[in-house]
Amino acid sequence: MLISEIYRNSKDPIISFEFFPPKTDAGYRTLFRTIEDLKQLAPGFVSVTMGAGGSTRSKTVDLTVEITREIGLVTMCHLPCTGFRPREIGGILEQLKAGDVHNVLALRGDPPQDDPDFEAPTDGFRYANELVAYIAERDDRDAFSIGAACAPETHPEAPDAATDIANIKRKVDAGADFLVSNFFFENAHFFDFVERCRAAGIEVPIVPGIMPIATVSGIRRMAAMNGTAIPAELDAELERVDDDAKATYALGVRWATIQCEELLARGVDGIQFYTLNRSPASREIFENLFG
Ligand SMILES: Cc1cc2nc3c(=O)[nH]c(=O)nc-3n(C[C@H](O)[C@H](O)[C@H](O)COP(=O)(O)OP(=O)(O)OC[C@H]3O[C@@H](n4cnc5c(N)ncnc54)[C@H](O)[C@@H]3O)c2cc1C
Repeated sequence: MLISEIYRNSKDPIISFEFFPPKTDAGYRTLFRTIEDLKQLAPGFVSVTMGAGGSTRSKTVDLTVEITREIGLVTMCHLPCTGFRPREIGGILEQLKAGDVHNVLALRGDPPQDDPDFEAPTDGFRYANELVAYIAERDDRDAFSIGAACAPETHPEAPDAATDIANIKRKVDAGADFLVSNFFFENAHFFDFVERCRAAGIEVPIVPGIMPIATVSGIRRMAAMNGTAIPAELDAELERVDDDAKATYALGVRWATIQCEELLARGVDGIQFYTLNRSPASREIFENLFG
């Protein structure tokens, strides 16, 4: 099923979950328990990330196909184009189609941090809008719904917020059917971003990404990497719960629940949860919201 149709046809907000391909067998066992658990919440779809530079290509494609075929969920495969030639992207799309996966998140990606020798092919894609156009111009365009990424607090490399929004519009004009946002901790950033997108003529669903806090050091590192602001109130709470896993978990659930309540009240098309392959936090937030 195409995610563009899921958003178009649903009266209710679409809840979705993001997973990543684990490195170990134990990680896969945890992930499949997580997926079975979250399946009970009837998500609109789930998505699977692909490592920087396409490093987890086979694992990502295989996992996405397995979740589709064996577990029966609608899936989306993340597709970062840095590191791939167009013909390789074509090959991945063929594999996905053959595996009944019809949704891709078209991303630029980043060079892998653990590979100092990494070189992007010169005949590859420079930006995500080129990947979106490549998929949208294929003969099998109708076989895929295309999502793209956005950063409510502006992508760290963009010279300014207006240029970043103009670049997001390039992706939508090229054929992106919906946008999924980076995580943020202050809804005001998201609402302001959506308003500026609409003013710029971006009309597709813009879905907020919510990250339940797993560890204090982890969230600080990811926020710094992504240019996500940690508001003073949350910062103080993070200081308070540091080194206390239970209190960190409870803070993460409480903060995300409050964010989601307001997002839903303001009529978002859906919420994408970054699960980090664990179900309890997303499940508890879901239960807080929908009982
Ligand atoms: C929901 C979500 C899921 C993600 N999943 C993954 C994943 O699975 N794997 C992974 O490796 N990464 C993933 N990422 C991270 C993403 O790859 C990085 O944020 C990356 O730095 C930018 O990707 P993008 O698709 O937004 O790039 P782009 O849209 O190409 O933008 C990158 C930068 O270039 C600028 N830009 C865009 N187009 C142009 C243009 N035509 N000319 C000049 N400048 C331009 C933009 O303003 C921005 O600053 C994800 C991000 C999000 C939000």
